[in-house]
Amino acid sequence: MPESDQPGNGQPATHQVVILGSGPAGLTAAIYTARANLLPFVIEGEPSSTSDQPGGQLMLTTEVENYPGFVDGVLGPDLMTRFRDQAARFGAQFLTRKAARVDLSSRPFRVWTESTEGEPDVLAEVVIVATGARATMLNVPGEARLLGHGVSTCATCDGFFFRGQKIAVVGGGDSALEEASFLTRFGESVTVIHRRKELRASKIMQDRAFANDKIDFRWDTVVSEVLGDGKVSGVALTNTVTGEQSTLDASGVFVAVGHVPNTAVFAGQLNMDENGYIKTTDGTRTNVDGVFACGDVQDHIYRQAITAAGSGCMAAIDAERWLEARGQG
Ligand code: NDP
Repeated sequence: MPESDQPGNGQPATHQVVILGSGPAGLTAAIYTARANLLPFVIEGEPSSTSDQPGGQLMLTTEVENYPGFVDGVLGPDLMTRFRDQAARFGAQFLTRKAARVDLSSRPFRVWTESTEGEPDVLAEVVIVATGARATMLNVPGEARLLGHGVSTCATCDGFFFRGQKIAVVGGGDSALEEASFLTRFGESVTVIHRRKELRASKIMQDRAFANDKIDFRWDTVVSEVLGDGKVSGVALTNTVTGEQSTLDASGVFVAVGHVPNTAVFAGQLNMDENGYIKTTDGTRTNVDGVFACGDVQDHIYRQAITAAGSGCMAAIDAERWLEARGQG
């Protein structure tokens, strides 16, 4: 952290651009704003229980084969390291902490990372929010250990690896059925495991899934453990009505029980939809002038590294033009 940003060292310097988040969206915004000489300051988050480095959801994947330019694929963490190094090369600065509190009510915007009390650690003319979303997990034994080794939260990303194999999908919403339908292109069979007898998914998605010969259902059933030594071999199941235990062989387990955007810190300040995703209009603008949002924090539809990176670029350009219009660019 630069001297001027040290907590307790008087008023911190005001950065032109502060980026919250270090997934593909945040780091692409950092590359673009750094190359525009705006010296972005990236509050990149912290290591978590599932990853020893910040960098978003790609830190939890293994091979990424759909990011353009990598003919032979690239490991998710390696891709994020490349993004980060590229941003650093052009002068982006990084702080490995989480934003604990933000005040977007007046400029400069204020960000606290150390604590939520006292003086803020970071001041910003522009804030780019790229804090992403996280997949809701089942939190059962074996799941975290086998994440990226058969357990996945993204069929578009990982379905290809399960060609000709047995696949399980957990969940009963539109995501689960969309993933299941998509996965029938690859898998020998797809079993949807749902904790109730009725699906939450829309009727059209249900009809499509019921009509698909490759999809079958386990009703009133929860996954009690993901099985496998090094890679997934199946799941242990419990029937929620009878209590009966069983196992299902599968090489892939796709968890599709919803996503949660990382927006708690912006509650009451940025407009969000009913699921907590930040609303953007006119590109990446939020309801607060000078605050932009990009990536999964404002996108519950596409959720791809490439779309997040694309919207990070858009946020950087929007921020740059916004500063320029005020004679600050
Ligand atoms: P939803 O919240 O709609 O569905 C989540 C599903 O997961 C529910 O069936 C829920 O069960 C189940 N679930 C939740 N927690 C657990 C758990 N711990 N263990 C087992 N099962 C669990 O999330 P989605 O991601 O499916 O959809 C989010 C939004 O995105 C929705 O509005 C959806 O319509 C939309 N969407 C639209 C698509 C489309 O139109 N093509 C595609 C994908 C999403 P229960 O039903 O019992 O609560």
